[in-house]
Amino acid sequence: MPRPCGPCSDPGRNEIYRSLLNMAVSNESYRTISNDFGYTESALKRHKSNHLVIDLDDVHLVMVEAKERELSKIRERELAKIEVETAKTISGRLEYVPRRDEATGRLHKS
Ligand SMILES: [Zn+2]
Repeated sequence: MPRPCGPCSDPGRNEIYRSLLNMAVSNESYRTISNDFGYTESALKRHKSNHLVIDLDDVHLVMVEAKERELSKIRERELAKIEVETAKTISGRLEYVPRRDEATGRLHKS
């Protein structure tokens, strides 16, 4: 049976995740992170390539869903504004539509 992954079950795993994910911007090396958290560089590399990928997919999914939710709220707000503006415009124009007087047959403004 393979040994359980140390960083995965570490109480400070969120800090380890953060350090591993920030490597590109923080310029931290595996050696530094290894010194900080007490795992070998190969354990950290294995953890990053085998276990963070799944988490990143979840994170990506959550981000996509949140973005969709926000976009749909914005869309609804904009549609409501457009409906109000359209209703104002239509009612404004209806005031200028002439009506035919049934008795005289003449057109006049309402
Ligand atoms: Zn792991």
